[in-house]
Amino acid sequence: MDTRCRVCSGTVREFIDLGRQPTANGFLLPSEVAGEFFFRLAVGACQECRMVQLLEEVPQELRYHAGYRYHASGSAAHRSHFENDAKRFLRTELTGPDPFIVEIGCNDGVMLSTISTAGVRHLGVEPSGDVADLARAKGVRVLSAFFDEQTAADIRIRHGVADVVFGANTICHIAHIASVFRGIDQLLGPNGVFVFEEPYLGTIIEQMAFDQIYDEHVFYFSVTSVKEMAARFGFELVDAERIPLHGGEIRYTIARPATRAPSESLAELLAQEQAGKLSEEQTFAQFGSNVARIRDDLVTLLTDLRAEGKRVVGYGAPGKSSTVTNYCGIGPDLVPFVCDSTPSKQGHLIPGSHLPVRPPSEFSDPYPDYALLFAWNHSKEIMAKEEDFRASGGKWIRYVPEVEVL
Ligand SMILES: [Zn+2]
Repeated sequence: MDTRCRVCSGTVREFIDLGRQPTANGFLLPSEVAGEFFFRLAVGACQECRMVQLLEEVPQELRYHAGYRYHASGSAAHRSHFENDAKRFLRTELTGPDPFIVEIGCNDGVMLSTISTAGVRHLGVEPSGDVADLARAKGVRVLSAFFDEQTAADIRIRHGVADVVFGANTICHIAHIASVFRGIDQLLGPNGVFVFEEPYLGTIIEQMAFDQIYDEHVFYFSVTSVKEMAARFGFELVDAERIPLHGGEIRYTIARPATRAPSESLAELLAQEQAGKLSEEQTFAQFGSNVARIRDDLVTLLTDLRAEGKRVVGYGAPGKSSTVTNYCGIGPDLVPFVCDSTPSKQGHLIPGSHLPVRPPSEFSDPYPDYALLFAWNHSKEIMAKEEDFRASGGKWIRYVPEVEVL
């Protein structure tokens, strides 16, 4: 089935189907299982602008609501990353008279709290009530809304133009991307920048990180496709830089045309993508068949371990744990529970696959034989923290870029 591209209306051709999936952050109580929402999780590439995107999308009201459970401040690495982002903006873009920064999807205020402390004018736009309240508690000014053309126009009327519009792991979530760019056009000052940090298609393909594919990620950006998208909406991509977050992301900087010189890093990344054939059909087809092999290997391993009477516990319940468990058909029969430090997830089930989420204290009580590392992007941090698990004879199971026991 073909779909129209959300950027250019070209034809989107499917290259991977991860099957029937719930909303990845729809952690639910055992009593809520009956009404659970499912859709077909499949991804394709636009034949015109090369933008990689979901074929079917979940209405945004189902994804971001009062009970949205992703907290950006959850890890120390994230807190320090966003504090550095804020400090960099304060040093570079926010030095004029009465500067103003807007963040699309400010989550719990992990970036804007530093801006607020510095006394700089700011506004977070955040549709999810719970996390918006956490941001407000840190002194961050928040507008509870989805960012679109209308919201942007209202902000401009009330606050004037912005020097920076920022988004982290939010822009790729927004299906109405054309309205976002029209909003940026309304809101951004003549020399302003629109900066966003998002999962990178190159990383997803290189690391086989198929679990980055879930309902919230409508787009899978490459530098090539973002450059094309910026141009189609009347802007220019002037910088792209690799950042280590979430296993490897890109920070894109978009400006009004001919206001800033394109960076060397941008040229390098574009050249790398072309050399690596990142946007070509054969690359996508290979990715699809490699993902199917990971599924087969992981299910075989878990089934064998169960037959040997070994205990396997999941470690971390990020949104992506939903993709892998539902795609592979991993239920509580193979992994009886998952430990996660987010209190609001504990006592709930991973959507679709219904693995129970329990507090980290249960991980060591007693240690399992194997731990399936869903939060693999925090491998280093986690393995260092859980040295005692290894010392007790425990082994880690990773499934990207391939299934391995560590
Ligand atoms: Zn397109």
